[in-house]
Amino acid sequence: MSRFRPIDREIDFCLRRDALPAAREHFIRWYSQRGRAWLSSRVADYQSRMEAAPAGVKVQELGHRWGSCGKGDWLYFHWKAILLPARIAEYVVVHELAHLHEPHHTPAFWLRVERAMPDYAQRKAWLAEHGIDVDVL
Ligand SMILES: [Zn+2]
Repeated sequence: MSRFRPIDREIDFCLRRDALPAAREHFIRWYSQRGRAWLSSRVADYQSRMEAAPAGVKVQELGHRWGSCGKGDWLYFHWKAILLPARIAEYVVVHELAHLHEPHHTPAFWLRVERAMPDYAQRKAWLAEHGIDVDVL
């Protein structure tokens, strides 16, 4: 048996071990759909105050990255972002929105992030330390 903890619920799912490979795909799909709605709402909250105009939000597998800013000003987020604490996922949103103005991690980029989220450094540090542990299985 293996245990899951879905976001913001104190419920564990139990699955038979032989169901796990398919279960992972199912959970990724479920988290991606749920994540897209939630992340889109966070993007909508921050985009006007950051004077950013993303084309939209896509949620998918991004390897070791939490987010990226792609061609045509689309914002991409890792499906695991929805498993992060909300305040940490919001930092990922602000980070990617700032990239619409500044493609690289220059001082001007970090200043833009700080203006939108004054305590971003704490959230960034949490993500660097704990982000690696976040997974569905
Ligand atoms: Zn970046």
